Amino acid sequence: MDDATETTTGTALVWTGGSDFELRSFEQPRPDAGELLVEVHLATVCGSDLHTVSGRRPGPCPGILGHEAVGVVVASGADGRSTVDGRPVEVGDRIVWGVTATCGACDRCRSGRTAKCRNLRKVGHEPFEGPWPLSGDMSTHVILPPGVAVVGVPDGVADAAAAPAGCALATAVAAVEALGDVRGARAVVWGLGLVGLSACVALLAAGAATVTGVDPDPGRHGVAVAFGADAAALPDDTTAAGPVDVAVEASGDPAAVAAAIERLDVGGRIVLVGSVAPLGTVTLDPESVVRRLLTITGVHNYEPRHLLRAVELLTTHGDRLAELVAPPVGLGELPQLLTTPPAGHLRRSVDPRR
Ligand SMILES: [Zn+2]
Ligand SMILES: [Zn+2]
Repeated sequence: MDDATETTTGTALVWTGGSDFELRSFEQPRPDAGELLVEVHLATVCGSDLHTVSGRRPGPCPGILGHEAVGVVVASGADGRSTVDGRPVEVGDRIVWGVTATCGACDRCRSGRTAKCRNLRKVGHEPFEGPWPLSGDMSTHVILPPGVAVVGVPDGVADAAAAPAGCALATAVAAVEALGDVRGARAVVWGLGLVGLSACVALLAAGAATVTGVDPDPGRHGVAVAFGADAAALPDDTTAAGPVDVAVEASGDPAAVAAAIERLDVGGRIVLVGSVAPLGTVTLDPESVVRRLLTITGVHNYEPRHLLRAVELLTTHGDRLAELVAPPVGLGELPQLLTTPPAGHLRRSVDPRR
């Protein structure tokens, strides 16, 4: 194989169902108009990828998983592209990208709710044998169609901090925005996975007076405290901690949803962001919602502006966020990580160039 051939091929880890994966080589495609071809430098393994592989969540099969990554633009199609903040994207730019590919033309896109585009496609969720084969980040290269939000990554931000921003941190930013003005608020975050920890960061950055992180795993508490959360109490400690003004429910556990609603003070607002699997229902006393003037809302996916804000937060919180990501493996070792529960770090990672 000569050098010219080497530079035009890539390798993807293709999920073929169950715990089966295949490494497949491909010719690097020439991006179509408005598309970007990106070399993935680091991708992180989201809990939802693990759920896809374990069968808890439907996924593209065969398909390339992975929707949290940072990489460098290697080719750009005709028409060019701009970042969310309006800068032209150039070959060589280090970028992160959103999880959604939106049409920009449907009623929801036009009304600003692109997260729920009627023609939504998602990074790492498309079939390998369909019109967007290189949709996932567990690959040396990914194609980003025009409707995928792109943001440049500042030089000082580590790849390990940047990679999960397009999923956990941007989602947390969207959740906190959905709570409205949180300045001076007493806040609680239920579930200290990466979304919940990111929500602690986003709440404090948005001016919350206090943030309490709640998680049954004491190992997560120290991380929340390191991010500036006041305390990270066990769920059964929290009744002693008093009422709160705003809550982010990131665990998805119906019992936690009920407990979080219970803690809201008059005028309280809660955003549900963790309930992305059918884990059960919650009994709600509507009278208590009325009398306490509660607002209960949900967030799924996010808008491009949330990705931009997430990257801004990386400049101040990136070093600490990077510590939550394990050192990368190569694509060949990745199936092992995708079929075993995480231990230690909150995110495992892959550098497909290895
Ligand atoms: Zn994710
Ligand atoms: Zn649309």
